[in-house]
Amino acid sequence: MPEEILQPDKEYLMDLLKKIISFKTVAPPGSNYQEIVDWLVPIFREMGFATQKLTMPREVFAAKCTDSRLVGDRFNMRADLSVGAEKTLVIYAHLDVVPAEGNWDTDPFQLTQKGGRVYGRGVSDCKGSIASLIAALKALLERGKLKYNLSVLLTTDEEVGGYSGLCYLTDLGHVKGDLMLCMDGFCDDVVIGSNGIITWDVVVHGRSAHSGSSFLGINAVERSIPVMEALMDLKKVVQARRSAVPASTALEAMGKKSLMPMLNITMINGGIKENIVPDRCTLRGDRRVIPEESMDEAMAEIEMTLKPLDVDYDLKFYPGYPPMSVNPEHKWVAEVREAVQRGMGFYPRLSGAQGSLDQAYATEKTGIPTCVFGVGRQLESNIHGLNENVRVSDLNGFARFLIELLQA
Ligand SMILES: [Zn+2]
Repeated sequence: MPEEILQPDKEYLMDLLKKIISFKTVAPPGSNYQEIVDWLVPIFREMGFATQKLTMPREVFAAKCTDSRLVGDRFNMRADLSVGAEKTLVIYAHLDVVPAEGNWDTDPFQLTQKGGRVYGRGVSDCKGSIASLIAALKALLERGKLKYNLSVLLTTDEEVGGYSGLCYLTDLGHVKGDLMLCMDGFCDDVVIGSNGIITWDVVVHGRSAHSGSSFLGINAVERSIPVMEALMDLKKVVQARRSAVPASTALEAMGKKSLMPMLNITMINGGIKENIVPDRCTLRGDRRVIPEESMDEAMAEIEMTLKPLDVDYDLKFYPGYPPMSVNPEHKWVAEVREAVQRGMGFYPRLSGAQGSLDQAYATEKTGIPTCVFGVGRQLESNIHGLNENVRVSDLNGFARFLIELLQA
């Protein structure tokens, strides 16, 4: 007799997802965190997990979460199960979703099944992965055996780049284990790298005057031109660099082979009226940092570029998540890919994300080797957009992948 292939209960998975989607954990403002955590805790307890509801103290929230759009208490969940295994696997996903604005074909908070897909805000990013995880765990605990001790982290405010979720748990020492799976991703590739992000602004100073005698003032908008030109010259240098981390399958199809650094001017703001010489012009933008670069060097490079200019300006940096790069030869990476092969029927490519991940913060601080792999597809799930969707077969496939990954 061939060994039985453990399957998730597909109906149970769909019921879970239906309920999870119905919690409007929209960030900003970041609501219903307590409600969803209170619903999840008994589910994990019944499976034998020791759960912790981690509430962020209000004073920490006030000090660290300065985004004024965020309101209310922050509850994260940690659920641990020890099976006496040698190694502990940390599994992470976020509970919040982006707002569901615009004209959806269906109610975004009511799971709707149509033509082999389910629709709803968060089905792909990343509530579908959470439903698949619970269904996979249930099947494994009832009929199988776990290979790893587990530590599941379900968190808040990822979608606003907030601190209250994985970063906060990292700083508290809650990210503890030998291996990590971040489910905030796609099933197109296994992601083992990502770009870091630095946001910057330059305020160019001038002196206001009547524009009829503009020679009496200093035009801050016009003085911004050499600043922009210098940044555009640097952009060429920066964007000629390439990472060793391969690009995603979706970008590869567009001819992009590897992760690329970016320097962008994305906002400009200056002037009050046509006939007033402006005394101030603000440029804002970001710098995406590949794993081979350092955040400090990237900032120093911008500083050195602007320094020689004969312009009065103030430059500020707001460093965000660092870049991430996991050794592609690590045994864990191979293990994840092989589980995808067995569970979903294809051997996934390794790739990097052009965007930045809070996972990178946890990986940098803890050194735990991490793979990012989730449900949903980059070119069809329309995450953060209208009619976010995921294939039903991918939800079940993802649960099958988890079973293959976790089964002893
Ligand atoms: Zn996400």
